[in-house]
Amino acid sequence: MKVINPSSGEIIREFSLQTIEEIKAVITQARQAFDQGPWPRLSLAERKQFILKIGQGILDKAAELAEIETLNTGKPIKETTFMDIPSAAKAFEFMANNFEKYLEKETLDIEGQAQGRLVREPLGVAVLIIPWNYPLLIACWKLASALAAGNTVILKPSSLTPLSALELSKIIKAAGLPEGAVNLVFSSGDVFGKAVCQDSRIDLISFTGSNEVGRQILECSSQSVKKLIMELGGKSASIIFKDADLDTAVNSALTSIFLNQGQMCTAMSRILVQDSIYDRFTKEFVSKAQRIKLGPGLDFETQMGPLVSDGQRQKVIVAVEKAKSEGAKLLCGGKIPDNSQLKRGFFFEPTVLAQVTPQMSIFREEAFGPIAVLSKFSTPEEAIALANDSDFGLAASIWTKDQDLARSTAAKINAGTVWINTYGMFYNQLPFGGFKQSGFGKELGKEGFLEYTRLKNIITDQSAEGKPLVNFWYGF
Ligand code: NAD
Repeated sequence: MKVINPSSGEIIREFSLQTIEEIKAVITQARQAFDQGPWPRLSLAERKQFILKIGQGILDKAAELAEIETLNTGKPIKETTFMDIPSAAKAFEFMANNFEKYLEKETLDIEGQAQGRLVREPLGVAVLIIPWNYPLLIACWKLASALAAGNTVILKPSSLTPLSALELSKIIKAAGLPEGAVNLVFSSGDVFGKAVCQDSRIDLISFTGSNEVGRQILECSSQSVKKLIMELGGKSASIIFKDADLDTAVNSALTSIFLNQGQMCTAMSRILVQDSIYDRFTKEFVSKAQRIKLGPGLDFETQMGPLVSDGQRQKVIVAVEKAKSEGAKLLCGGKIPDNSQLKRGFFFEPTVLAQVTPQMSIFREEAFGPIAVLSKFSTPEEAIALANDSDFGLAASIWTKDQDLARSTAAKINAGTVWINTYGMFYNQLPFGGFKQSGFGKELGKEGFLEYTRLKNIITDQSAEGKPLVNFWYGF
């Protein structure tokens, strides 16, 4: 496996990929560590200390991690320094300080002297499959919950972006976690999927990635009936009403589609603008999109880096060409930049397409690149219908000064996260996850944590009489 710097096209590192036999040995190790090892048997207070140490370990190496993540993904160093790495550390700190209360046992008096006790247990061996767009952050979201719950873990980064996971595994080792609690695998997706999906020694697969691969995992896991968490794609809509603050709406729309080169599951890849402000909005939006500074990820002045790979760039080029052929109007971008200093990296210009209708592929399919799609609406009902006209249901954002309009619109949006007059903030307290084909299960918050546990109910009845199935059924 060759790891490439997308800003320059150069090979930064080579790895050998693990074979199916090697992955099976890792599964054995994780299983033994769960069945016999100390990790699930530690007291909650001990587990908390380990989880805090991982978070602190990330903070101690923050600058180095930011550089590695940028080198490997191409995303601007400003993003990794101020968002990805601190948020990754925070995920551990937050979970360490909250999981004990999420695990509190509940006792229910049922009837007579019967009592039920609800107990949360770890699931067992949890497989965590990570995409390339937020390699460290998504790994940390999943790891913090899976470990706090007491599972042992097999972590599988994307073959395109394994470097930050490698550093994270060193931090975890330095934190002193017991052998086998966290196991890192470098392998191709196909080989890994074959090894884990059908293996009944694995209790959970938590997958974040594309719908195509998500479907393969669903099918392949059906024989072994394991728990799945699916965090899949999106085609989210930003709804901009006529009374919105225009400057803020334009700026947020830019961030929501060009941050991380548009390679975000929650990218607002459909921007719906009310007709009376559509022309003004479009003019401002295009003028600012053209001023975004492209450059290598490691340059602090860079506002937009390269796409993660040449393959990803090809997909984006195909999506733009198809949109044009279906009648969308290209307002800017749509090509590889002419700048000779960028020619070896996988750069693509911020692209704006207008006059896009719901019948066009670019309105319906996730492009996962810097392609903004503008459409017009006249009434709130039309905006809601357009936003919901999608197979996906991951997120939406609403821009208006009218709080009643904002709330009534949010109530009718078919998506797991709705931002009102804001965009893109994820909070450790708030569960995140999509509806419809954006998947199922949550990450973050109490609900995200509980996904990594199983619920047992233990029933005790101290009464001598009054247990119909015990005392009277056969009449003996
Ligand atoms: P991908 O599906 O190609 O790969 C994701 C991971 O799955 C990688 O680690 C890959 O190696 C692995 N994989 C590939 N084939 C596999 C198989 N057969 N069995 C098991 N694992 C396999 O996705 P990607 O291109 O890395 O990421 C982009 C996608 O991720 C987009 O669709 C995006 O919307 C989605 N995403 C979703 C969220 C969310 O929270 N909903 C967050 C980030 C990204």
